[in-house]
Parts: sequence; structure tokens; C-alpha cells
Amino acid sequence: MTLTGRCHCGTVAFEVQGEPITHALCHCGDCRRSAGAPMVGWAMFPASAVKVVRGTAKVYASSQHGRRHFCPDCGTGLFYGNAAILPGLIDVQSATLDDPEAVPPRIHIQIAERLTWMTRAHELPTFERYPPAS
Ligand SMILES: [Zn+2]
Ligand SMILES: [Zn+2]
Repeated sequence: MTLTGRCHCGTVAFEVQGEPITHALCHCGDCRRSAGAPMVGWAMFPASAVKVVRGTAKVYASSQHGRRHFCPDCGTGLFYGNAAILPGLIDVQSATLDDPEAVPPRIHIQIAERLTWMTRAHELPTFERYPPAS
């Protein structure tokens, strides 16, 4: 399987070969702050499986060993690496895949830091687009 993905503006594009090792929805405060989102999906691959085919991601040291790669033009988060905890592996921010449906998540991780209201988020009212104007 070859997956393709890119940042929002398209400056940085990448390809991934093979099946993900796992795909986790991460609820840690670090991911939350970095993405500005309540959780972040990460598809894990051997680092050798991921190739940037256009542009160059900027790398930010988000912790002692954590490295977050993002588009220098639009800011989209793309990859996460951690040579201490995840040697030889890379996490791809799964919603940057051109077909995010191709790799469904398998687990939730770091729920020790999960926002309490996320536990019941699936029970909120839903709308195909927006709520009707009142
Ligand atoms: Zn971009
Ligand atoms: Zn996280």
C-alpha cells in the first residue's frame, strides 16, 4: 500500500509505503497544545517508510526528545519522532493523508490527560452541516 499526504497549503507532500504499525488517537496535552485540537491521530510507520516528496518540513523540539515536523508555510503538523521512546519509527499525523479513511484508528492513547468532555463527545447533537438558524 502506498499512501500519500500533504499539508494544507501543499508546500510539503509525502508518501508512505506499507501498512501502519498502529494508528492511535492521542489525547496528551502536548499534542493538544501543538495541534490546537482536542486530540490528534497518529499513524505509526518505520521511519524508512516515509518519504517527503515535495518541500521541507520544519522541525520543532517539542520536548527533550520529541520532534514535531510541520509545514513552514501553513503550519500543518505532519510528523512526530522521538529517538528515545520511538527509535526508528515515525508518527504521521493521520488526518494529513489524502485518504484518511484508508487507515482507521485502532486505539486511544494518553487518556490520562484526555479532556473530560471528550469522553462523551460522541453523545453531542450532530448536524450534517450547521445547526438551523433560529
Ligand atoms: Zn503547508
Ligand atoms: Zn500526544
